[in-house]
Amino acid sequence: MSDNLRSLSQKLKSGETDPVKLTREYLEKIESLDKKINSFIDVEKDEALKAAEESKKRYEAGSPLSDFDGIIVGIKDNIVQKGRASQAASKILENFVSPYSATVINKLQDAGMITLGRLNMDEFAMGSSTENSSVKTTKNPFDLERAPGGSSGGSAASVSAGLVPVSLGSDTGGSIRQPAAFCGITGLKPTYGTVSRYGLIAFASSLDQIGPLSTCVDDAEIIYDIIKGHDDFDSSSVPAKDFQDKDIEPENLKIGYPPEMLEGLDEEIKKSFFEVLDYLKKEVCKNEIKEIELPYQKYSVPVYYLTATSEASANLARFDGVRYGNRDKSAKDLEELYELSRTNGFGDEVKRRILLGTFALSSGYYDAFYGKAQKLRKLIQDDYKKAFADIDVIILPTTPTVPFKIGEKTTDPVSMYMSDVLTVGASLAGVPALSLPSPFEKLPVSVQLQGPFFSEKTLFNLGRKIEAAYPAKKPAL
Ligand code: GLN
Repeated sequence: MSDNLRSLSQKLKSGETDPVKLTREYLEKIESLDKKINSFIDVEKDEALKAAEESKKRYEAGSPLSDFDGIIVGIKDNIVQKGRASQAASKILENFVSPYSATVINKLQDAGMITLGRLNMDEFAMGSSTENSSVKTTKNPFDLERAPGGSSGGSAASVSAGLVPVSLGSDTGGSIRQPAAFCGITGLKPTYGTVSRYGLIAFASSLDQIGPLSTCVDDAEIIYDIIKGHDDFDSSSVPAKDFQDKDIEPENLKIGYPPEMLEGLDEEIKKSFFEVLDYLKKEVCKNEIKEIELPYQKYSVPVYYLTATSEASANLARFDGVRYGNRDKSAKDLEELYELSRTNGFGDEVKRRILLGTFALSSGYYDAFYGKAQKLRKLIQDDYKKAFADIDVIILPTTPTVPFKIGEKTTDPVSMYMSDVLTVGASLAGVPALSLPSPFEKLPVSVQLQGPFFSEKTLFNLGRKIEAAYPAKKPAL
């Protein structure tokens, strides 16, 4: 079964297959393989087949809704869909069924695409390994003893294993890019504000973005083009008149890389990175690829963790056992109801972040922690602005290490947080970043392309060159 969106579209249009057959093939694959991978929290088989029947009728009537009508998209469990359990892999939302759909779900469905399943993730998207899920632990398809990355580990592992052709994830500090890198696939964190957050269960609102995880750059572009656009329901959505497409051909690009950020990375990561850099220098770019400086990047991990936990502590205050999800039945009064519902509903990492964020925001400490982090965030943004005055794309690895073993970092939160050292900068600056595989032997390694606001097309163009030179490998399952 081919899993590239254009070839699937071709097969559907030519009648070589139909949406029902195709959906069945994927469902069978999920049935036989996901026992090993654990990427799905839930698969809505009947609903998917019903949607596939409707799509089939549209093809028969000669009126598919788009080129991609009838193709499945896997959905991360924090993107709500009407009538479906949407729990962000948290116990506190265990029985929550969403009364509405996220804007991205509506957009995919308007294109006739079939939104399938709830994909596993770190609880409330907090984590880098999917081990913080209250439901199950997802495995890396390249090595079942290793983590798939996180927080969109289910979204990455399912695509990598071929269980869905493409999926949606969310990225607050790297949660699309890092799991994509760990699972040997492509992932895009779009420019902040280009994809609606309406219906994304909030973690840190000034950072959260929904984006695609896919087997190739073309598919990331197709899905991005479908889901992007202004949305009145999201107050941070970019106004329609401000959308622009920066589209520069790879040979004309001015590319920079920050040597300082490569210090301390695994040798395998550096070797793969420099191989890509040499290839670009020799075969693709007319201009010199130069070293650049991003001096405030060294503060990006603490700035990110102060910002994200502060916003999380406010966003997660709504889970009080009264309005959504699980309520503790044994509570004797209101205060105990809050306390018990939250104590039993949230996992350890979520509690750690609520505590950290509440502390950073508390009066007396606000200026020293949250306030200082915001000043540094501005300086990190200025670093990017200065860099992009001179170059068009920054290239760097996506992760400091190859996929780590399940259990390896769970007792050491700070070492887990350091997994994000190469991704959080683009999140704090709001700029787009595309992660895609670079050469590797056994365990996946990726490079990351970051550009100024709205430069997604430029990143896709350059990504396609890299992808052509180093085709993605598939896991042996
Ligand atoms: N790993 C980071 C964290 O734990 C990023 C998570 C994300 O992007 N959702 O916060």
